[in-house]
Amino acid sequence: MTERREELAANLARVEDRIAAACEAAGRAREEVTLIVVTKTYPASDVRILAGLGVRHVAENRDQDAAPKAAACADLPLSWHFVGQLQTNKVRSVAGYAEMVQSVDRARLVTALSKEAVRTGREIGCLIQVALDAGEKERGDRGGVAPGGIEELAGLIASSEGLRLGGLMTVAPLTGQYAGRQRAAFDRLMDLSTALRRAHPAATMVSAGMSADLEEAVAAGATHVRVGSAVLGVRPGLR
Ligand SMILES: *Cc1c(COP(=O)(O)O)cnc(C)c1O
Repeated sequence: MTERREELAANLARVEDRIAAACEAAGRAREEVTLIVVTKTYPASDVRILAGLGVRHVAENRDQDAAPKAAACADLPLSWHFVGQLQTNKVRSVAGYAEMVQSVDRARLVTALSKEAVRTGREIGCLIQVALDAGEKERGDRGGVAPGGIEELAGLIASSEGLRLGGLMTVAPLTGQYAGRQRAAFDRLMDLSTALRRAHPAATMVSAGMSADLEEAVAAGATHVRVGSAVLGVRPGLR
């Protein structure tokens, strides 16, 4: 094994232990939680190592970085998730590799994704990104729609050709009433998910929890955790 492979294997094992322990503490089966490794800022060579270690889901937040990486890893059995703020002019590129866009937060983006899905004959999974620190009907500073905007956006996605409504995603807020209260934030997301599933029973995905707070997300009921630095190392700079 190369040094980097050993390092990633050890980190991955630690994260796996954390997820397993969190599932056990919550009385949940380990299979209820899917690990998505966020590979942003790290090279395609790391993605390749991770695939070799059994990782099947990876996520990126910038199309400029993600597109060449996904192309370099096209031979690997990976699902790519897009988790960053997405401009409509990047939709064509992102739709070329992403199976799931987790950061859907406005109608214009839904329209653009649907158009691209139809054009290429592919289905694109969509999660609605919820900004728990945004004012009613507003959008968050780091993307996301306020809870009051979920229902309308969900209806639009569900009725758009080529798109599949998967569920909800959030990032624990740094400001507002949920700042520093990850568990409360994720509990709120679960309540919103319950409400969403009344109208859209198949929209069961709840993507929440990162390196620092995956335990709180699993305890709240998250189905997907997005873990970057705990697997790959701390990224230089804040991104
Ligand atoms: C970077 C990122 C993550 C992973 O964060 P870590 O703290 O490195 O685990 C998860 N979700 C989103 C949306 C991200 O941008």
